[in-house]
Amino acid sequence: MLPGMVYLVGAGPGDPELLTLRAAKLLAEAEVIVHDHLVSAPILEMCHGGAQLIYAGKERGNHALDQTDLNQLLVRLAREGKRVIRLKGGDPFIFGRGGEEVEALAAAGIAFEVVPGITAACGVAAYAGIPLTHRDHANSCLFVAGHLKDGSIDLDWDFLARPGRTLVVYMGLLGLPTLCRELVAHGVPETTPAAIVQHGTTQSQRTVAGTLATLPQLAQAARLAPPTLIIIGGVVRLHTRLAWYESLAAAAARD
Ligand code: SAH
Repeated sequence: MLPGMVYLVGAGPGDPELLTLRAAKLLAEAEVIVHDHLVSAPILEMCHGGAQLIYAGKERGNHALDQTDLNQLLVRLAREGKRVIRLKGGDPFIFGRGGEEVEALAAAGIAFEVVPGITAACGVAAYAGIPLTHRDHANSCLFVAGHLKDGSIDLDWDFLARPGRTLVVYMGLLGLPTLCRELVAHGVPETTPAAIVQHGTTQSQRTVAGTLATLPQLAQAARLAPPTLIIIGGVVRLHTRLAWYESLAAAAARD
């Protein structure tokens, strides 16, 4: 029996056209695909017709498999000689726990390959018309996780609050009021532009833009559904002029 192998593949933020050539080729040949809820339906439709699809969950509050079971599943399938695609939203090494999965594979002596994907920050910012490091507004960009733990977010607020930064917050929808409040409490002007983008790069993309003072209420009124990405900083101002994707969608809806 040939030894199995695991391909840890980034599926990008949603639009199937944003897959890498490597990812598309592997999906077309796949035998077993273990995927997350973030992988969009059109991407799953590109998988080889005979491939076995295994859903690994990871929605908030709905983990079909816990991380240890998932790691063991990958190891077991590879030991059965399978070529396994572990398909994750965005990039596998950005907030995807892909690092833990390849650590488990390495520990078990299983061969693996990592195929990068377009992370939500890059894909969503591009489609929302927000150039993350436009030099008139920012000199750095930070990707942070904004999930709530016991009602608070574990971040170094003084560090995040320094000027010239663009902040991109993953998993921040529930924590949005806390996030905005903490930044203002740590000295960021409440007039700082901020936006939240739902389902970026897909047909249900919607951007709600405001400031640190107004965004929590605007987002609540808009009843956004996850996944959403939050972008904070002067660069968000450019969205009004550069929102090419939502403008095209609105024009197509009028035709
Ligand atoms: N590995 C992924 C991130 C996994 S964490 C990546 O590189 O993109 C999951 C978070 O990613 C979501 O809570 C959301 O904040 C963000 N996200 C992923 N896809 C998104 C999309 N299409 N639109 C908005 N946010 C998205």
